[in-house]
Amino acid sequence: MKAVRYRSGPDEYRIGRLDGDQIVDAGPAAEQGFVPTRAAWAGLAAADGPRKALDAVTLAHPVVPRKLICIGLNYRDHAEESELDLPEVPVIFAKWTTSLIGHGGTIVIPREETRPDYEGEVAVVIGEPIYRATGAAARAAVGAYTCFHDVSGRRAQLETPLRQFTYGKSFDTFAPLGPWLVDSEGVDLDALDVETVVSGETLQRSNTRNLIFGVEALVEYVSRGTTLEPGDVIATGTPGGVGDARDPKRYLREGDVVDISVSGVGTLSNPVTLER
Ligand code: ZN
Repeated sequence: MKAVRYRSGPDEYRIGRLDGDQIVDAGPAAEQGFVPTRAAWAGLAAADGPRKALDAVTLAHPVVPRKLICIGLNYRDHAEESELDLPEVPVIFAKWTTSLIGHGGTIVIPREETRPDYEGEVAVVIGEPIYRATGAAARAAVGAYTCFHDVSGRRAQLETPLRQFTYGKSFDTFAPLGPWLVDSEGVDLDALDVETVVSGETLQRSNTRNLIFGVEALVEYVSRGTTLEPGDVIATGTPGGVGDARDPKRYLREGDVVDISVSGVGTLSNPVTLER
């Protein structure tokens, strides 16, 4: 099952269930959008509102998380191309939630950012509150998954001696998420294809089986000392092939369109423009 959040007015959003190329309306969206608890999925399954054509609406990021947690260097080939040692524990950073946009929203590169880069990722969304979840309970706490684009300002990131991530990855519009949430029940989250295509050229391709720390291990690690709440997002990291590690380098440019696809979800597509 797939949950969308779509615009119904200047500052109004509704939730719907995706049915082929149509949306079945499920009522006004709460402030947090679609939070993938078991009860929310059951409610969505029962929705029977008016139908709208998917291509007639503007989609928004489906959930508005309180925490947008990101994982760095979680694929061996990306750690190697970044010339960094493989991490012994997950590398955790955050993006401001104000950087989120939905499918079709425009990524705007700030004037100062001369090395804007793409990172295609799988994101998982927490469906129940947990603290110190382990093993199967950590896996079961995930309620949904989708595509995520960890847009990265390498200039801002690499000009600091510690290569701190948050500033250069949290610019407005630097966190496309969607196009919708997919129910993760019964889905093997360790066997998802992820692919990044920039203006028609495939630049990243991997599978979550190549994650250094899989979803269960990530939930387990993050929830040690930090309560994860329904709606919190964990972006699982990007595979090799980012623009900054290419020869020649391939940064995002005016007019690019970045498509990130995850098996079982579909494609998150966002155009790129430069701030004037
Ligand atoms: Zn990333």
